[in-house]
Amino acid sequence: MRLKARSGSRRKEELPANAGPVRSCIGCGARRIQQELTRLVVGPEGAVVVDRARRLPGRGAYLCGAGCLAAAVKRKAFGRAFRGKAGAVDPSALGQALESGPARGGAAGGSGC
Ligand SMILES: [Zn+2]
Repeated sequence: MRLKARSGSRRKEELPANAGPVRSCIGCGARRIQQELTRLVVGPEGAVVVDRARRLPGRGAYLCGAGCLAAAVKRKAFGRAFRGKAGAVDPSALGQALESGPARGGAAGGSGC
């Protein structure tokens, strides 16, 4: 008679435990600490948006930066990452959002300068 010693279903991952969660870039596939990646989520209308604060609900995908955006679009990685929930991805708009750096305080839609 065998007893199952396993409790729960932890995945084995050889990653530093103290570095925080690690995610894969959907563009180049590099595994990096989540904090070094830019999080993307699908909004309620299916638009892919940059989630700088990493606080938006829903399934997230991660990119190293604007450079990986094109690769992700080419690979149709968004469809996979968001399981078909993502609508049309606008690479130029997303690229701008990725390059614009940390969001300035305040809600989106305010005029820049
Ligand atoms: Zn990347």
